[in-house]
Amino acid sequence: MNVVVVGAGIAGLSCARALTEGGARVRVLERGRVAGGRLASKRYDGRYADIGAAYLVADDPAFAAQVTSWESRGLARRWTDTLRVFSGSAGSAASASAASAAAGSASAASAAAASASAASAADAAGPLRWAAPGGLRSLAEDLTTGIDVRLQSPVSTLPTDADAVVLAMPGPQALRLAPPPGIVAAARAQTWHPVIAAVLTYPARTWPSFHGAFVNDHPALATVCDDGDRRGDDAPVLVAHSTAALAARHLDDPSGAGPIIAAAVGELLSLPDEPSVAVHRWTYAQPDPSDTPYVSDGGVWLCGDAFGRPRVQTAWLSGRAVAQALLAG
Ligand SMILES: Cc1cc2nc3c(=O)[nH]c(=O)nc-3n(C[C@H](O)[C@H](O)[C@H](O)COP(=O)(O)OP(=O)(O)OC[C@H]3O[C@@H](n4cnc5c(N)ncnc54)[C@H](O)[C@@H]3O)c2cc1C
Repeated sequence: MNVVVVGAGIAGLSCARALTEGGARVRVLERGRVAGGRLASKRYDGRYADIGAAYLVADDPAFAAQVTSWESRGLARRWTDTLRVFSGSAGSAASASAASAAAGSASAASAAAASASAASAADAAGPLRWAAPGGLRSLAEDLTTGIDVRLQSPVSTLPTDADAVVLAMPGPQALRLAPPPGIVAAARAQTWHPVIAAVLTYPARTWPSFHGAFVNDHPALATVCDDGDRRGDDAPVLVAHSTAALAARHLDDPSGAGPIIAAAVGELLSLPDEPSVAVHRWTYAQPDPSDTPYVSDGGVWLCGDAFGRPRVQTAWLSGRAVAQALLAG
């Protein structure tokens, strides 16, 4: 069997690996310069920061085995099971201050900062979150070993020289390849939300000890993670993810969201220093969940994190499920 997988994100790579192990001939076509998709780490001043997925959760036995393999080879590390949750006036005070700071209103900013004292923050235990010393993209890179992955190979029409074509990507991206009707219907049924990620590099680590945080009810800020803690090198770097609402307003001007996110993080954590800011726009960051593992029509398959709860594990499982279905004939 001869299969073309379009997309070298975690879904495409898990599909390609399982197909290869099952004896199929596979080539993976990826438009980007590197593999990984939204499992993304980018280098800033010589150091990688995770700008897409913040961490992995592995509560499926098969994916847990994959993560254990990464851990045994020093590629993945146990990060934390405890994240902070900011809620209530934390969001509104910090966002008012962020907006004021962005508008250059010092007095409004300090008034909002004063009200931030009413903010509530609590640590919440949850599942173990996994991180990667070399950046999470290194895990995707590991999956490319022994696989025919062709980078900088954008696909604009469906390949016709294969027994099956797997589109391992967000539905809106798959639609650009004019797939068969069943794929079109499934892709159109997906709902996606954008995120702008901001990498904030400070002169020193001045924040109170925390691993990462969810920020509830904030118009600008959804999460903030200590990238130095996550990666284990203690670099003074935070990575914050915007709300979908802020990202939607800045899709054509992502750098304009940078100062707003930086001000919101500074306010939330009472940081004395200004960071240098780099932003990355994810137009298709997070889909609404669904409950099928993949769809197929006429030899074309669509998989990825839209098939389940939107996370790395889901994408890995979805790609693997397509491979298993193809191998089962
Ligand atoms: C900001 C953010 C935060 C997140 N946080 C978490 C988290 O903390 N934990 C978690 O588990 N998950 C998180 N996720 C989700 C996680 O990153 C995804 O679930 C997972 O990486 C999706 O993998 P995928 O292979 O389905 O899709 P993608 O990673 O999007 O891969 C699709 C690939 O297809 C390629 N492609 C698209 N079109 C073409 C074409 N025409 N030709 C060739 N190649 C093409 C793309 O370049 C890309 O490499 C987050 C995502 C974002 C964006």
